[in-house]
Amino acid sequence: MDIINNECKDWDVIRLTPEKDRYNIYSRHLKDKFGGKVYKLPVNLPGTCPNRDGSAGTGGCIFCDKAGSGFQCLPNTLSVQKQIEENREYFKKRFNAQKFIIYFQAFTNTYMPFTVFRENILSACSADVVGISVSTRPDCINDRYLDFLNEIKKEKGLAIDLELGLQTVNYHTLRKINRGHTLAEFIDAVIRIHRRGLEVCAHLIVNLPWDDLHDVVENAKVLSALGVRYVKLHSLYVVENTILGDMYKRGEFAVMPLESYVQSVVLFLEHLDPRIVVQRLVGKGPAEDLLFSNWGTSWWKVKQMIEESLEERNTRQGRRFDYLNGSALLRGGFPEY
Ligand code: SF4
Repeated sequence: MDIINNECKDWDVIRLTPEKDRYNIYSRHLKDKFGGKVYKLPVNLPGTCPNRDGSAGTGGCIFCDKAGSGFQCLPNTLSVQKQIEENREYFKKRFNAQKFIIYFQAFTNTYMPFTVFRENILSACSADVVGISVSTRPDCINDRYLDFLNEIKKEKGLAIDLELGLQTVNYHTLRKINRGHTLAEFIDAVIRIHRRGLEVCAHLIVNLPWDDLHDVVENAKVLSALGVRYVKLHSLYVVENTILGDMYKRGEFAVMPLESYVQSVVLFLEHLDPRIVVQRLVGKGPAEDLLFSNWGTSWWKVKQMIEESLEERNTRQGRRFDYLNGSALLRGGFPEY
């Protein structure tokens, strides 16, 4: 099956990175797709992950705190409806927001009984909701859940994506960070999600200390070859009371300098298919218990540095997207980074 030409008909509305943009910016994509500004409303459900509860390991990912990466959400003791209502009111008042994507953010949102999952998704559907984004793990993608999402997509006319935590394509690093799955599960999940006409957002940490620039490039190449719709980049943050936090305090690894992060993201973008929409260039760490986050500066400053670097180098997303469709026949040698 040609994954690019899959059932995802919406792919056709994706345009190449516009000339004036150095990369395919998410906010612009949302405006094009939905005809106006769209805001994401996060929902935080109580939950766990198979690499926490013993099914695929214990302890969770070595960087993950007790909130399961849901630190920007409302408390998970509130119902789905209540969280949506409160967040909706906030965005309406502050930004005059009219259209929303409901974002199931924390933990593994398909790692629960089907009836609970179904109820959560149905609670998210209302007239001003144009899409649903479900954050989960590649090893928790079950066809029954995908079939249901596909039905909802057709019935309600929603854009639905599964946000898959991958972090890196380097399966040795995946072991090191205790993900509890390998690259193969990610590939399998993407193929099955695409077969259902749903979209994929891949989540990556570009500066994992055990990856080098070849891994950064391979991340871009694998996502491009699989034809995912969105990518979300994170910089590594280090939090107290995590395995990574303990390693950091013992001096077992060093976080790469900020300039190297900027260089890595630029290299990643250059190799990324220009049709893939970039949701984020850098992440935010939690407000509390931080040992390291974004080199002591703000996330928007890091984003600005990446954008300036793209300008200075006069480069853009997809400039080195020249490796698919047998292009090795046309190109001499294998590049070093
Ligand atoms: S899968 Fe996600 S929520 Fe679960 S331990 Fe890893 S990063 Fe945390």
